[in-house]
Parts: sequence; C-alpha cells; structure tokens
Amino acid sequence: MLRNIPENHPRAKSLQIRELLVDGFRSGIVVEEGLIAHGRGEAFDYLIGEISTEQALKAMKSAVALMILAERPVISVNGNTTCLCAKEVVKLAELTSARIEVNLFYRTYEREVAIERLLKANGAKEVYGVGSRASATIPELMSDRRRVDPDGIYTADVVLVPLEDGDRTEALVKMKKKVIAIDLNLLSRTSQKATVTIVDNVVRAMPKMVQLAKQYAHLQESKLQKLAYGFDNTKNLEKSLQYILKGLKSRD
Ligand code: ATP
Ligand code: MG
Repeated sequence: MLRNIPENHPRAKSLQIRELLVDGFRSGIVVEEGLIAHGRGEAFDYLIGEISTEQALKAMKSAVALMILAERPVISVNGNTTCLCAKEVVKLAELTSARIEVNLFYRTYEREVAIERLLKANGAKEVYGVGSRASATIPELMSDRRRVDPDGIYTADVVLVPLEDGDRTEALVKMKKKVIAIDLNLLSRTSQKATVTIVDNVVRAMPKMVQLAKQYAHLQESKLQKLAYGFDNTKNLEKSLQYILKGLKSRD
C-alpha cells in the first residue's frame, strides 16, 4: 500500500518510487542493499535534473535497435528493476523477442520465485534463470551473479542489464556479448564497461524504450543498423558528464 503522498508535493514522484521499493522490500522482492543502491541512483538523478537527457535518448535508440537486431536478446532483471518496472520489462521483451532472466546478487530461491511471480502477473509467459535453471557459470565471476541460464544469458548475444554491477558487465563483455546498461551513475564501472550505457532512471527509460521498440518494429534493417552501430558510448558518457558539470556551474 502506498502511503499518502500529496500529489502537489514537490518531490511526489521521487517519494512514490521510494514507497514502491519499500513495498517491494516488504513483499520479498527487494533486498535492503537494493534500497541503498537506489539512494546512490537518486543522488545522480538530482545531478541530471531528473529528466531523460538528449544523450540518454540517443543511447536508448541504439539499445533498442541492438535488441531488435539481436538473435538471442535477454533482459536480465533484479529485484529493484522488477519492482519498479515489471510491466515495461514484459512489454519490451515481447516487442524485441527477448527472454527475461532473473539474475540476483543476493540470490535466494524465495526471492527468485517472488520476482518470477510478479513478472508473470504482468504477462510474462516464461521466466529464465529461476532455481536449477541457472546451471551455467559466467567465467571469472565470484558473486552469485555468475549463475545464469544456459538458454538465457549464457547463450545471449545482447543482454540488457538495468541496475547492474561492474564485475558482471565486464565478464559479459569478455564473453563477447553486447551489454546495454541502464545506470544513473555514469561514473560506475558498469557504465564505463557496457557497450551502450543509458544514463537515466529505469523508471523513465523503460517506458521510452517500449515506445521506441513499437516505432522500430517495421524499420528497415539498414536503418536499424545505423541506429545500433552509429553510436559511440565513450563520447556519449563524456557528453553526459559535461551536461552535469554545466548544470552545476550554472548554479554559481
Ligand atoms: P559498479 O560496480 O558498476 O561500479 P556498483 O556495483 O557499486 O557499481 P550497485 O551498488 O550495484 O553499484 O548499484 C547499482 C547502480 O544502479 C548504482 O550505480 C546506482 O547509481 C544505479 N541505480 C540505482 N537505482 C537506479 C534507478 N532507479 N535507475 C537507474 N540507475 C539506478
Ligand atoms: Mg559492484
């Protein structure tokens, strides 16, 4: 149940997101550490003015085109992502023929099942990576994030990893996969290592990516390729940093 947050409260949207996460925590989907990780995200969101920047939109376009062009795209979800955007995850998966896989840093069977249940309540037909299905291992990775589904992330060519940690991003890139990250912290190792980094809040990025996937459904392959590969992640991150610095300077 969402607590009573006045609609005209200047921080209403941000407070509503917090309440959603607290409810997700109470229902066993989100872990304590996930609440803290959200706080780090919020701090960066403040710096970008809580909007989807031009750079974020460019990255989203490349990301969605990559997913449509992929042979085996997978959306990797954790507790926070499912709690905040289960509906959009399912929709984007449908539109890009992607599989959805549960992948957790703090893995328990109960939590995997709770996440699977919420995804299915939002229309997911199949959810990968739950229980014994996560039987393959990402090399060189020590955390529980290494356990993946042989029919999901392990054999994927493009993986969307909203709210990821840097280690696994790097390990997935080493496995020659294209990794799309959504991370408000443009300085994180995840952001630096991913193939495409969307510096935006998942809450804003996911619905926009669903819209783009609808728009791109009938786009010619050559146009999709241009969108997918005509993108420079290093340059884009640099521009995002400049955007933040300019915003801070203008407050002098
Ligand atoms: P790295 O290993 O990549 O340097 P980390 O593993 O220390 O980073 P985590 O603590 O795992 O980072 O947190 C995941 C990331 O998700 C954080 O960088 C945080 O900024 C970001 N984040 C949290 N909530 C959101 C959100 N709602 N939208 C987008 N990004 C978010
Ligand atoms: Mg980390």
